[in-house]
Amino acid sequence: MNKKADKLIINGDTFIPLLTEEQIQKRVKELGEQISNDYKGKVPVFIGVLNGAFIFMSDLIKNVDLECEIDFFKLSSYGDSKISSGKVKLLKELNCDVNGRDIIIVEDIVDTGLSLKYIEELFSKHTPESMKVVSLLVKPESLKYDVKIDYIGFRIPSQFVIGYGLDYQQKYRNLSSIYVLSE
Ligand code: 5GP
Repeated sequence: MNKKADKLIINGDTFIPLLTEEQIQKRVKELGEQISNDYKGKVPVFIGVLNGAFIFMSDLIKNVDLECEIDFFKLSSYGDSKISSGKVKLLKELNCDVNGRDIIIVEDIVDTGLSLKYIEELFSKHTPESMKVVSLLVKPESLKYDVKIDYIGFRIPSQFVIGYGLDYQQKYRNLSSIYVLSE
């Protein structure tokens, strides 16, 4: 695997660069600074949605100048496919108590919004002090559910992307940049 390649050919599919490592790092720094300003004097809990958000969350909190805590939960989503299964299941629960806390949900990508809708319903059973959502990527043309995303890294076309935490059949999460399926 050439991590700097101009294109990747995987199972006969061609992926071309969409966002470079530099573009991603610059935007993640800006998001970190914005969150640091908005949460001054607070100790938020960043809650990452596994598996895809782990790299973004790691880079994001390094750019946040606040005392903060982290936790993760895991949802099923695409499985090994390139399209959404239309169903969401909770595969790993949170460990921390979110009641009375300022929580920031960290998503890798919002596509139809189904996962985020599920998350909103999940947290409606708890009583956090506040809840905001940060997503590195959003596909605005794919949104089917009415969801609120407070911080958006990049708006991208409705095409399948990999890298920087996002997988194709569980692989390619370790690419530092983001590639899109060329159609
Ligand atoms: P949604 O529930 O909004 O339709 O989809 C959210 C989840 O689907 C994401 O957290 C991610 O796991 C997966 N997903 C959506 N679009 C893509 C994509 O383009 N590439 C990859 N690898 N996963 C995606």
